[in-house]
Amino acid sequence: MTAAPLLSSLDELRITNRYLSLPADPIADNYTRQVKGACYSRVAPRRFSAPQRVAYSPPLAADLGLSEAICRDPRFSRVFSGQELLPGMEPYACSYGGHQFGHWAGQLGDGRAINLGEVITATGASLTLQLKGAGPTPYSRNADGLAVLRSSLREFLCSEAMAALGVPTTRALSLTLTGDRVVRDMLYDGHPESEAGAVVCRVAPSFLRFGNFELHARRDERALLQQLADFSVTADFAHLLSLTGKERYLAWFEEISARTLEMILHWLRVGFVHGVMNSDNMSILGLTIDYGPYGWVDDFDLDWTPNTTDGELHRYAFGRQPAIALWNLYKLANAIYPLIGSAGGLEQILRQLEREYHRRFYEMMAQKLGLARREKGDLSLIDELVQLLGRAETDMTLFFRTLSRLQSEAYGQPLTSPLRAAWYQPQQLSAADVEAIEGWFQQFGQRLQREDPGRDELRRQEMDRDNPKYVLRNSLAQQAIERATDGDYSELERLFTLLQHPYAEQPEMEQYAAKRPEWARHKVGCSMLSCSS
Ligand code: AMP
Ligand code: MG
Repeated sequence: MTAAPLLSSLDELRITNRYLSLPADPIADNYTRQVKGACYSRVAPRRFSAPQRVAYSPPLAADLGLSEAICRDPRFSRVFSGQELLPGMEPYACSYGGHQFGHWAGQLGDGRAINLGEVITATGASLTLQLKGAGPTPYSRNADGLAVLRSSLREFLCSEAMAALGVPTTRALSLTLTGDRVVRDMLYDGHPESEAGAVVCRVAPSFLRFGNFELHARRDERALLQQLADFSVTADFAHLLSLTGKERYLAWFEEISARTLEMILHWLRVGFVHGVMNSDNMSILGLTIDYGPYGWVDDFDLDWTPNTTDGELHRYAFGRQPAIALWNLYKLANAIYPLIGSAGGLEQILRQLEREYHRRFYEMMAQKLGLARREKGDLSLIDELVQLLGRAETDMTLFFRTLSRLQSEAYGQPLTSPLRAAWYQPQQLSAADVEAIEGWFQQFGQRLQREDPGRDELRRQEMDRDNPKYVLRNSLAQQAIERATDGDYSELERLFTLLQHPYAEQPEMEQYAAKRPEWARHKVGCSMLSCSS
């Protein structure tokens, strides 16, 4: 691929606003309210005292045609914190609703996100620019519309790390300090503190969520529901435009479902836990969206959730993500049902998706294990491994990466020594655990021998493309936050650069591939995150 030609000034960005062709809120004033019969409200970003760039994403900037000189100019921070509008930018906030923790929550909307417009890139792609934390909107309810450095840094780093891992995601162009302080009670326990305010400029072909459709359906705004669905098809699923009527909406829903499945499989593959999979946080394009109390499983624990608000129910735990995605898809299906008029087609798509999920899950795991062919016993081999990984606290990333480095003759040797490094508390392994683990390795070794004993090197290369060496472990992000809070952005930059090549060996960065340090086991910001951001 050749790089996109670079622009000589921000003024050369080609900006359109297709979304504004949808019905608008007629009220211009910016105060909290229910916005009915409309898809968005126009709103101006807030004035900040002293916007200052903290970081930007060079690969995304290049896709947009922005040179390093443009990104390092002070004007970049003014524009991407909403202080200066470029020609064509017409800021607005979208209306949406959603199911939060299993319950209908009514109107939510862009309470602290302001869209600036859609950039048409050199390749003809359309990418919406959205500022998170740029001030209140009619959808802010009783909150301030702002965001803090801590959570914004997490969103910036993780969006770009996920993109480099090949996980579908919204992107992050920039991270800017506003120069203003924001008060947050991080654990909702009566200890509010003043934190540095920040804005992330997010980028995606569309920020439409399941909740946009749910809101219109709940309000019986059928015409609006249809207009929005047609808008989505035209803007992002243009290959379905030749279909009409219910065929179009069914095909559209089928594709949304398939993309959602794809995203979830990637999350399971890399060990990502979103943390708050409410239906307002589910993208119509199957992109990971709204990085809040997310986390990475260090030890492979299907029941782990980083979100303290979910600490009791574990609704959004690592292993529940496929079921919750399906649950959300049912909510979307309910919402668009009026466009189709019968439930049969939608139900069929979802039943098929469930079957497809099971097939694809084992396919993904077989690839992680480096199995080139499929054998009948693979399913139980994989099931047993999942059990074992949970039985002995095992670092997921290290385990799979190390597995690829074993020679097939080595399997079956007592606790195949290099893998010991992936265990957190080997002393806790019972004799039965050890026996089960050794038994599994023996089986796996035999399985590989049957496959092709000479494939060790090729298998390693293939496995390294599916099993990252470096992920944004919670403790790594936390250390970058602590430094950045003191005005030192070097750790943020180091992590950003490292995570651009998550599958590559980077010998000088070996310490970033290490297991979670013990201090991070129960630390706020590492294993305990809240929605306060
Ligand atoms: P989230 O849990 O971050 O997905 O947010 C759920 C809803 O709360 C969305 O409508 C957000 O826009 C809104 N929200 C979250 N934080 C704020 C804030 N600081 N100010 C205004 N709205 C917010
Ligand atoms: Mg959200």
